[in-house]
Amino acid sequence: MNAARWERCGNPPEKGRVVDCEDMGNSFDISLERLTGLGVPGGTGSAGAGGGVSSGRLALGLAGLKPGTHRGETLEGGLRPCAAEEPKSTDPWGLPSKIGASGVNQSARATSTDPSGLRVKGTFYLETFGCQMNDHDSEKVAGVLLARGYRQVESPDTAAVILYNTCSIREKAAQKIFSRLGEYRFTKKEGQVIGVLGCLAQQEGEEIFERAPWVSLVCGSASYRKLPELIAQLEAGNSRITGLDTDTDETFETEMTRRNNPWRAYVTIIEGCDKACSYCVVPFTRGPERSRASASVLEEVRQLVDLGYTEVLLLGQTVNSYADPSARRMRFSELLAAVAEVPGMRRVRFMTSHPRDFGKDIVEAIEAVSAICDHVHLPVQSGSTAVLRAMARTYTREEYLERIAMLRGAKRRISITTDLIVGFPGETERDFEETLSLMEVAQYDGAFSFKYSPRPNTPSLKMEDAIPEEEKSRRLGILQARQRDIQVERNARLVGEVFEVLVEGKSRRENQWMGHTSCNRVLNFTSPAKELLGHYVQVRVTGAGPHSLVGEAIHGGGGQ
Ligand code: SF4
Repeated sequence: MNAARWERCGNPPEKGRVVDCEDMGNSFDISLERLTGLGVPGGTGSAGAGGGVSSGRLALGLAGLKPGTHRGETLEGGLRPCAAEEPKSTDPWGLPSKIGASGVNQSARATSTDPSGLRVKGTFYLETFGCQMNDHDSEKVAGVLLARGYRQVESPDTAAVILYNTCSIREKAAQKIFSRLGEYRFTKKEGQVIGVLGCLAQQEGEEIFERAPWVSLVCGSASYRKLPELIAQLEAGNSRITGLDTDTDETFETEMTRRNNPWRAYVTIIEGCDKACSYCVVPFTRGPERSRASASVLEEVRQLVDLGYTEVLLLGQTVNSYADPSARRMRFSELLAAVAEVPGMRRVRFMTSHPRDFGKDIVEAIEAVSAICDHVHLPVQSGSTAVLRAMARTYTREEYLERIAMLRGAKRRISITTDLIVGFPGETERDFEETLSLMEVAQYDGAFSFKYSPRPNTPSLKMEDAIPEEEKSRRLGILQARQRDIQVERNARLVGEVFEVLVEGKSRRENQWMGHTSCNRVLNFTSPAKELLGHYVQVRVTGAGPHSLVGEAIHGGGGQ
């Protein structure tokens, strides 16, 4: 990653993610993508009139996008005059707010302070740990609360309601959140609500009250819609409330969603998971698969275009297992094409795909529709069929490699990234070597790699033959070094090529910009243009590292 200090945060982007998963080995700048999406209660938009400021750690500074910036314009050799697009509203950063509803009175509740003068009633602070699903859940939670007149604030010190939306897929994330909760042991103020949301809430349930008695709200993702009522019960005098039902057929749709990322909008198309991998808590914490009707998805995408978005990321734990519950019975590949055809939409991404349900029709859709991004995240987890069987992944090494061959044989070059776990119970040295040899064949453009960690309520918890931590670390180090070399080689081959980049960041260093290509690579480039944020720019690659590319905008990317 370019060492330039991006205005989005004080740290190089690749560090952002590791904060939450210290044993995770990022080897691809998709980490930035996750960071930017990081529901890092971040601060980029604000709600409607009088909308609150952002909360939590600011992942995207995003300074520079001015009201009136015309977004989604391709710039080639000359900045086209901005047909000024009136932003829906602006926040203190001068950014267009992104919120899927209008007319919400933000001032209704945010009127009074407690005697300390710090905590304002009707205010909430929301911080997120976890994957894009968590990030997007937080956007929806914020939307639900904003719609009820709450105001989002940037510090827990000034909030009446403090919420942590947490992942529990890694043990470290759970440790982190309990450490964070511990900060309130002696500092929680009278009447303040401290709540835990998300997978950890669903997994630990009322035990969270035992470990942190000052917590008063525990709520899983299936109950987010009820959050205002749950909070109202606490404000009315109840000391503890839970919302932990999972027996719902509903997906978490809301009329209003606060959008933290001004460039890429998340759209959930399927929730839950029926796959039951033996190491995974998701089926327990998020319940069975429920798909949204295709018409509802398409309507949300049209609204996003109206808000100025040109890129969407379709989300689901197993996004390609999508099954349209409506009479249209759209296949996932048909939905991808339909979303791409919404007028104004320029990029459609999707994540995460399950290998079992990854068919030729998805590759054909990518080949046929240029707006569907040429990037597929296809987690393999292990290269050994024996380990895959123990993981209950429902495919063999050979079947997975058939998918890779299909992708590599596509008429359009498709970038492939993956997830890998080392040190699963019973993984032999030979199994591990099979993972390394699969990586050689697959030639991934990026990989997230993890040491296995046992999680509650999962079958693998009871498996024998645990791998010692030192051995897991050794294997992870070997795997990451090899993947790094592969990325160095693959990225070096791109030098000289031209990519279209959606510009998402501006460095403090003069003339330095960054953005993502359709294949989801980070490209840091130079351009003398005054304003490029939110624009599509043609960039020639002049150099490459393991995690990102560098280049220069063609014809300056838009001139002055
Ligand atoms: S496919 Fe497996 S790893 Fe992915 S969410 Fe479902 S159970 Fe978890």
